[in-house]
Amino acid sequence: MITKRQQLLSLFWVLVLAASGLAQQPASTTASPDRLRQVVDYLASDALEGRRTGTQGANDAAHYIAGEFNRYGLRPGLQIARPARTRGETQSRYLQPFPFVADVTLGNNNLFYVNPGRADDIAQFRVREDWMPLGFSSNASIKSSEMVFAGYGISSAELKYDDYAVSNVKDRVAIVFAGTPDGDNPHGQFVTAGQIRFRAAAARAAGARALLIIANEERLKDDRLSRLTYDNAGEAGLPVLVISRQLARKLLYLPHPEMTLAQLEKIAADGRLVNAKPETKPNGEFTFSAGLFREPTSGLRLDLTTNVTRRESPSFNVVGILPGSDPSLKNEAIVIGAHYDHLGRGGEGSLAAREGQIHHGADDNASGVAGLIELARMLSSQRPKPRRTVVFIAFSGEEEGLIGSSYYVNHPILPLANTVAMINMDMIGRMKDEKLIVGGVGTASELRTIINTHNLKNLTTAANRVEPVSQNGIKPPRLPLGSNLTIDPALRHFDLTLNDDGYGPSDHSSFYSKQVPVLFFWTGTHEDYHKPSDTADKINYEGEARIVWFAANIVRDIDRNDKRPTYAVAKSESQGRSTGFRVYLGTIPNYADSNDGLKLDGVRDDSPASKAGLKAGDKIVKMAGREVKNVYDYTYALGEMKAGQEYEVEIVRGSERLTLRITPAARK
Ligand SMILES: [Zn+2]
Repeated sequence: MITKRQQLLSLFWVLVLAASGLAQQPASTTASPDRLRQVVDYLASDALEGRRTGTQGANDAAHYIAGEFNRYGLRPGLQIARPARTRGETQSRYLQPFPFVADVTLGNNNLFYVNPGRADDIAQFRVREDWMPLGFSSNASIKSSEMVFAGYGISSAELKYDDYAVSNVKDRVAIVFAGTPDGDNPHGQFVTAGQIRFRAAAARAAGARALLIIANEERLKDDRLSRLTYDNAGEAGLPVLVISRQLARKLLYLPHPEMTLAQLEKIAADGRLVNAKPETKPNGEFTFSAGLFREPTSGLRLDLTTNVTRRESPSFNVVGILPGSDPSLKNEAIVIGAHYDHLGRGGEGSLAAREGQIHHGADDNASGVAGLIELARMLSSQRPKPRRTVVFIAFSGEEEGLIGSSYYVNHPILPLANTVAMINMDMIGRMKDEKLIVGGVGTASELRTIINTHNLKNLTTAANRVEPVSQNGIKPPRLPLGSNLTIDPALRHFDLTLNDDGYGPSDHSSFYSKQVPVLFFWTGTHEDYHKPSDTADKINYEGEARIVWFAANIVRDIDRNDKRPTYAVAKSESQGRSTGFRVYLGTIPNYADSNDGLKLDGVRDDSPASKAGLKAGDKIVKMAGREVKNVYDYTYALGEMKAGQEYEVEIVRGSERLTLRITPAARK
């Protein structure tokens, strides 16, 4: 996969450096493919077991990165007056801990009793064998509750589909199938509304006391839902469990002894449950008359206690600081980031055919971390030194939902107001045909021009300017602000794709949500993405070295200018795309911090949310009459709202509880 490409320009600078003994060569330090390879080889090795957040492998990676930061003279992110006494103590000062649940276990008190109404006839069902709470289930005790079959437990105003319009689950326990009415079509209409998280939110909104989901697999242990995984997005607000198909048969009042769950599911999928009561036809098919399934199942009552323990594991961002050299500009910071966590041995996020193999994450994102460490080396050794302070951050928790970067922007080490730009590298190791994608170019008015200018091969750098120069009679264009010229391939370094949007599937999103201009470098997705086969031997190290060199020049250019990049509201790619919701509020939810409401990381300018007076840091606890405990409740409530209609939104701001009025806009 590695393209054998001559690195004439890089080589040229290496020679210049060696010959001149450096001194005043601002853009001269070059990136080394060999050093990048060393870092990727280690981070993507079996020893680190895929670097899943909260695991030993991830923490070994964190200490390694801290050691590299220390080696290149970066200051630790945590400043403590007392000098460190040991190497371990020094390294730990680069680590910014954040709360993260990596481990969910069953508690001792999980009980499931079914009482058919006679005191002497109580059946107990065993946890693990017959049922299993989900990782995000609330812990609760329910006594003597009726149970109602509720189809798939899906409720979506947009799809005009609502199982709870048929089955009344208020103050009862809902029993639902795990699938969707369209047979789990991955491109079907139920992809969003069918997510278990949204079904839990829908069940709670319908007033259910607990949600029982019928396993898809014949053996409960084989079922994906029985694995007790947790997405760090807050608990459900009600007990949510998966039950075996055998238990489901006992709980559901199947009126015909030969009727199978599969037949029941087919009836549910066909939407024939409304007022339906099955009767057998001579050919074995069922027909229906009114009223059976919307009623509680045959008088059975459920006593249920759920008890799951979510244990926090040590998880860290690694932060190293290169103090600025200019007396006043050193108060401003440029953040350079890359996440070091990956998917461990599979599970959530993995695209592997089976679980258990190490997901090496060489491109995703050992490549970005290698770039980060290489930039730390290059920028700390360059003379003159950068004028602004450069903050190098290796994030964790990215694969789990940008948890580390979200934590950082809420607990920044240098004030975000003084953070002039954030440069993110995620998957920069698979360059092919000179193609490089740069996101975020619309997040400050100067960025597009800076990127395009540095993509020209012949540049001269003066104190405050970067200018194209002619060579062999070919003069590259001078680029006006915000320009988007197609550059002759002979004159350019990369075949660039530039995206305006500051939001995207990586850590720069967390910074852009706080109005920090961002740039996002990546070489695109590939067939090994999120699979064990994303290995170190497939990285294009020469190509990556050129990207790192390019990024260094962008950082230097931003630093060279006295004026910081001018923040701009970028065109959002996702705004036009259908996300399954008809309305738009312009909120930026914090995906990490939500058990008792949905905290906002930010609010888009000129959006319904900003007009309503919502602000970053607010916690939404109720919206459109629905209680909001986590991001799924919020999204569920959003799905019920109509454009142009006014709704109340209740928030907690500091110690205050406020009610604001919001009018959603239609999604374009
Ligand atoms: Zn990833």
